[in-house]
Amino acid sequence: MVYIDESYSATKIKSNSGLGHHNIDAKYITVIYNITHSLVTWSIVFWALWLIYKKPIKASYARLLHILIDIPTHSLAFFATPFLRPLSNYKFDGVPRSNKMIFIPNIIILIVLYSFYLYKKFYKAKKTKIVWIWIDKY
Ligand SMILES: [Zn+2]
Repeated sequence: MVYIDESYSATKIKSNSGLGHHNIDAKYITVIYNITHSLVTWSIVFWALWLIYKKPIKASYARLLHILIDIPTHSLAFFATPFLRPLSNYKFDGVPRSNKMIFIPNIIILIVLYSFYLYKKFYKAKKTKIVWIWIDKY
């Protein structure tokens, strides 16, 4: 199990791999986080993909949504989102996801969305079966 020690530093990671606790000073995690949570980086990749594929790549909107959700749901104490890097080092001091004001609605939204997704998936599967039975008759 790997978890990030919020009390010390965002770059200090404690790991319990079954061989005991040990600290890993993982600055590269912060570097990767800064790159992948920047709207500037996202924009560059988005436009590069658009140029390559001659159309906007819809899957890249998932990354944009992730960054936009991360901005208000991370506090300065724990991986605040550097969404303007490298242009600016500004970070919004949001409400952490561990706060029940964010956590409980998050779980409810996930349950609703997955229920809707599964309902649609099984409803379509059932509908497809009916069409095949109908085709077999004629
Ligand atoms: Zn994130």
